Amino acid sequence: MRMPETPQIASGIPAADELKWMELALTLAREGVGLASPNPTVGCVIVRDNKIVGRGFHQYAQRDHAEVVALAEAGDASRGATAYVTLEPCSHYGRTGPCARALTEAGVARVVAATADPNPLVEGRGFAMLRSAGIEVSLGPLTAQARELNDAFAHFIRYRKPLVSLKIAATLDGAIAPPQQPKGTSFAITGAASRARVQELRHAHDALLTGIGTVLADDPLLTDRSQRPRRQRLLRIVLDSQLRLPLESRILENVADDLVIVTRSEDDARRQALTARGARVLKLDAQAEGGISLRALLQYLGEQEILSVLIEAGARLNHSALATDVVDKLYLFQSPRFLGPGSVPMLAGTPAARLPRLLRYSSELLDEDMLIAGYVRDPWEAALGLAHG
Ligand SMILES: [Zn+2]
Repeated sequence: MRMPETPQIASGIPAADELKWMELALTLAREGVGLASPNPTVGCVIVRDNKIVGRGFHQYAQRDHAEVVALAEAGDASRGATAYVTLEPCSHYGRTGPCARALTEAGVARVVAATADPNPLVEGRGFAMLRSAGIEVSLGPLTAQARELNDAFAHFIRYRKPLVSLKIAATLDGAIAPPQQPKGTSFAITGAASRARVQELRHAHDALLTGIGTVLADDPLLTDRSQRPRRQRLLRIVLDSQLRLPLESRILENVADDLVIVTRSEDDARRQALTARGARVLKLDAQAEGGISLRALLQYLGEQEILSVLIEAGARLNHSALATDVVDKLYLFQSPRFLGPGSVPMLAGTPAARLPRLLRYSSELLDEDMLIAGYVRDPWEAALGLAHG
């Protein structure tokens, strides 16, 4: 039997090798999760004669972009090399010079980028700068993975507001808690693998949003316990319209500018007591139904350069986030059991005229649980338009 020929791309490098190098660039980029925001998460691998000569990923505090870090390691070996980058190299002067110029000056012969820049104002300029310097440029592979890694950045660069993800852990009958739960005891719906994944999700987000009901019921910490480094603490946000948060709550322990209480209350004594514990108390106007306006909150968070918000809340906030159409992405952790009638449903509140559906989703087994993850809105499609597929 004849073996099929290895597919080759124009440069003569086998497609399987291209995939391998880009996978490595993505793995490097993921090292920057928690360290790159408010910049994009980017990884770069420089390859010459089928050998890695440089690698880099972006960390905001280190200033240098992934390409510059990788070029520094490669030194003279970057002459005639191929650079695999998870995002289009930049063409602008920000805190650093443009990476497209750095690649040109280092003598790189070819640049493979997993995706174009999601900023409609600069998209394609990095590629144009490289091509005009005689560098061969190609797009892909692993475009979908590279885009998902920077979905929050793509959203923020276009709308100046964070990407909102809703996380729900539920049973087969859609319950998030048993009928009766002793105060302050949290009931684990899902297994250890799912709970570890939730910590990874917290690590990948700039902020976590919950409601006062969840804090009163579970007394959670809501911290990032992934053990991975992050540039800024996870910003915890509690919607507490009447300022009911007890001063002995665990969430008020060791606050370091990482707790925002959002309220409509005018109670100055309560406000001062919370401020004294280190919390920021933010007063927002009510929306029509009398709850706190999530859109106003997202506007505020955008102004704080918060790129991503993870909602981990109870039935009412889950429902109002979906009903007011602020959710961009859903993570549903489903456990293989029932809780039965009378348990707490994943959604509660005034029936909504319309609830969103997922555009597309993926599913994954996490030990005994199933994770269903997908977009309600894909920020890349809005950013790059349909012409890019
Ligand atoms: Zn750059």
